[in-house]
Amino acid sequence: MPGFELFGKEERKEVNDVMETGILMRYGFDGARKGIWKAKELEQAICETFGCKYAQLVSSGTAALTTALSALGIGYGDEVILPSFTFVASFEALLSVGAIPVFVDVDDTLTLSPTAVRNAINPQTKCIMPVHMCGSMADMDELMAICKEHDLLLLEDACQSIGASYKGKKIGTLGDAGTFSFDFVKTITCAEGGVVMTNREDIYIASDGYSDHGHDHKGTDRGADLHPFIGYNYRISELHAAVGLAQIKKLGGFLTIQRNNNKALRAILSTIPEVSFRRIPDEAGDSCTFLSWFLPTAEITKAVVTEMRTQGIIAGSFYWFDNNWHYISKWDHLKTSATLNKLHPDMKAAVMHHANKDFSASDAVMSRCVSTLVGLLWTEEQIRSKGNQIVGTIKKVLAEHAVTS
Ligand SMILES: *Cc1c(COP(=O)(O)O)cnc(C)c1O
Repeated sequence: MPGFELFGKEERKEVNDVMETGILMRYGFDGARKGIWKAKELEQAICETFGCKYAQLVSSGTAALTTALSALGIGYGDEVILPSFTFVASFEALLSVGAIPVFVDVDDTLTLSPTAVRNAINPQTKCIMPVHMCGSMADMDELMAICKEHDLLLLEDACQSIGASYKGKKIGTLGDAGTFSFDFVKTITCAEGGVVMTNREDIYIASDGYSDHGHDHKGTDRGADLHPFIGYNYRISELHAAVGLAQIKKLGGFLTIQRNNNKALRAILSTIPEVSFRRIPDEAGDSCTFLSWFLPTAEITKAVVTEMRTQGIIAGSFYWFDNNWHYISKWDHLKTSATLNKLHPDMKAAVMHHANKDFSASDAVMSRCVSTLVGLLWTEEQIRSKGNQIVGTIKKVLAEHAVTS
């Protein structure tokens, strides 16, 4: 990760196909486009690669979540349970459709704690939204059982876990709908883009229309399209889809590299008994974009992160606990409900409620976690050197800690 590291002539070729015709839009202009349909081709490749019946490309991962939520009929008064560790986009999408985000704790999988989910269910709960963070996955058997038991929808935010799988099925295809992001730093990229995947025809048809102004796409004349419901414009362009088409063909190669590099780095960090690793519900299905590791206490972890900064080796390693983008402790804009548009007072109260909610169980996990991004271009020598540098900082901090405590 990320796919932009291996950008080249394949991407140029696909983009040039589109440049030759000048038809940059994914719909219409059937004659002038001379058989070039990059978005359609990419949607088909997504269905084949990930094993889902339907795929609807859109302009971003955030748009994919918004589209999926709308297609699932989630909105006013509906509560959606999601994890305290995610990217801000997950709750932006919820607020954009008028649904209420209900954040709950993560466990040592760095994803939704099934127990926390159970405790948050009430008659307003409509959907569970696991976020498969950092290349790995949530405990899907547990979450699917909860959804079945309580008749809830399951929407997977798989934006960070392209290519991961769970017990033989690709992550993002297990729920009623799932989404990927193809933004510039994801496992494969379109520059900007996203997709809604589903096995439900009704969700696909709704996503297809919603992302293009509600046009029903039934005839061959766009201008004659009818509007069974109100939609929006979340279209992807042919240029973006062309880049993605080149990238998806490289995904298998990316995953092999990531898995090898992840394993090599893990072997080096494993030499320290105090280091443990994220629990992965299906080890074989990890896409290995990150290696997420734990230290025994928050204090030691903070000291190691500080030491890594001092030594200039922090680049590529993330201490999410202190990060403004990915963890609830720093989302002041959420906790003060700082929206530009006015919200219904009940909604505002439900959002601001998170300012006083207890996330100590998440804190206990996140404050001890560092995730190291796994590069596609790393040489064996670079992995050794990176691993040894990290090991060096950990050993230094552990030794200092042993002296002072
Ligand atoms: C990247 C990401 C998104 C949003 O994707 P964009 O394409 O950047 O809009 C949503 N959820 C998660 C977990 C992400 O990492």
